[in-house]
This record gives sequence, structure tokens and C-alpha cells, in this order.
Amino acid sequence: MKCPICKHGETENGYATVVLERNKSTLVFKYVPAAICNNCGEEFITENISVELFSVAKQAVEEVYKLMSENIYRLVQRINMYKLDNTKAGKPTENSVLPEKTEHKPREAGSLKGQIWISDDFDEPMSEEELALWYDAPIFPEDKTHSS
Ligand SMILES: [Zn+2]
Repeated sequence: MKCPICKHGETENGYATVVLERNKSTLVFKYVPAAICNNCGEEFITENISVELFSVAKQAVEEVYKLMSENIYRLVQRINMYKLDNTKAGKPTENSVLPEKTEHKPREAGSLKGQIWISDDFDEPMSEEELALWYDAPIFPEDKTHSS
């Protein structure tokens, strides 16, 4: 078609880079099919393609914002937990996102009595044979490349 901008050139099929801005986000689409003026370089995009671009842009921005808000929430949570751990008073600020409260009973000595067994010779030195297994055995038993 005759270029409606410079009124001298003819358009040829090619590809354009389209930049869309939306909600403080900038999206760059490369290789968008376009008619390009061979005189002034003006790019023309069909309505079908621009409708598709806007639809993809909307979806992309929504997904990015969703991801960002999830990550920011987690980050704020971590920062506030860090702040809590590192203040003397340990008092949350009005902006703190507090982790769920869990009850911790103090540990009691001997609470596993009768439920576990420890060999009388657990602290005896190992035999030469056992030591050889520790220091010179292959990591994987089927490893035949290891020289012993
Ligand atoms: Zn032109």
C-alpha cells in the first residue's frame, strides 16, 4: 500500500519491534509482522495483530504482578522475622507479618528412656577391618574401578 504518513513510499512486509506500556510495566515484542514503508520506515500493524498483542500483554502483566506480589509478600515476611530476631525487645512493628505461633515444650532429659538402645562398646576403637572399610572402601560397592 502507499504509505499514509509520507505519501511517497510503498509498504513492504517485514517485522517490527513493538513497545507497549501498561501499569508502569514496559513490554517489548520483537518480530511482530508489520508493513514497513520503504521511504520513511513507518511501521503499520494490522488490527488483528494489535488486538492479539494487547491480549498477550494484559496476560503477561497480570502474571508478572501475581508472581511479584507473591514474592514480595514472602520477602516482607522474612525481613520482619529477621527484624524480630534481631531486636532486643522483639516487639513486632505495626507492619510486621508474624509467623504463625507454635507451642514449644521445653525438652525433658530422659524422655526417650527405654525406647532406644546403645551398645556398651559404642565407643570402643574400630578393628583394622572396619577402619579399612571407612578409609579405603569404594563409595559404591559395585565400583570395580577402585583399587583396594
Ligand atoms: Zn512512509
